[in-house]
Amino acid sequence: MPASLQGELQPTIYRFKLGGFEAATILDSKAVREGLHPMYGGNATADEVHGLARANNIDTSRLEHHNIPTIVNTGKQLVLFDTGNGALPREYEQLKARMPAGNLVSRLGQAGYKPEDIDVVVLTHGHPDHIGGLVEGGKPVFANARYVFGAAEFDFWKKNENVREARKFNQKLFMTICEPLAERSTFIKPGDEVVAGIHAVDAAGHSPGLMAFHIESDGKRFMVTADTLTQYVMAVQRPDWYFEMDDEKDKAVASRKRILDMLATEKLFFASFHMPFPGIGYIDKTASGYRWVPHSYQLNL
Ligand SMILES: [Zn+2]
Repeated sequence: MPASLQGELQPTIYRFKLGGFEAATILDSKAVREGLHPMYGGNATADEVHGLARANNIDTSRLEHHNIPTIVNTGKQLVLFDTGNGALPREYEQLKARMPAGNLVSRLGQAGYKPEDIDVVVLTHGHPDHIGGLVEGGKPVFANARYVFGAAEFDFWKKNENVREARKFNQKLFMTICEPLAERSTFIKPGDEVVAGIHAVDAAGHSPGLMAFHIESDGKRFMVTADTLTQYVMAVQRPDWYFEMDDEKDKAVASRKRILDMLATEKLFFASFHMPFPGIGYIDKTASGYRWVPHSYQLNL
């Protein structure tokens, strides 16, 4: 008998060592979208965008955005960065067709962590794919955690001024999910410490208060860049190109370039929330700009 076809099988958890810390990236879910342009390169032509895609051997009509939270065990605290989609597509009719359900909790389980083990949940920003796993059925998923928000980000959604049309539902969602968690939350600004070894870095633009995080243990350094770079070709090779989901386009371009320069100059490994899983790599400077170099075995335990 010939062997039967078994279907897709892809890795979803990657754990590595970072000085005295352990860290892991976990694939929560992946969004598949049609068409690269004008989602990327709204300020460029479709030909330019498709040309760059073809030059890098990626499909011009199909885009995968992986959603990849990062977890860091400092030895003292278990810190989770972002929470994926959670139950949002089950709980909100408007999101059913737009996003797949999250798998973070079951995959954390496979990696050896229970939701109640998480000490700190850091929200890089307030978009649905980052806050969606915080609450399910009206109850906090990470029952023992305290939360860390960027003060500017939290204030933006709470004030509800200058929220663009495409983010009006997001604003309501943020208030439903995050506002009730405020009393267990700390509100920080760029430069502030989350726990010893983890500091916030300004990355505003994609959202008004987006923060990246610099992690350091025993001289080993790493960054969680969240949604600064949302696609490994478009955002890295053409950081000037607008990304439709960036709330403040020019500010996002400036932050992208500043962080790309920092990653390349300081040769930092980083985890990027929407890169192809495991979402870890580094940035090389090239003659015309930058390129994403995926991690191979440099960080293995
Ligand atoms: Zn995102």
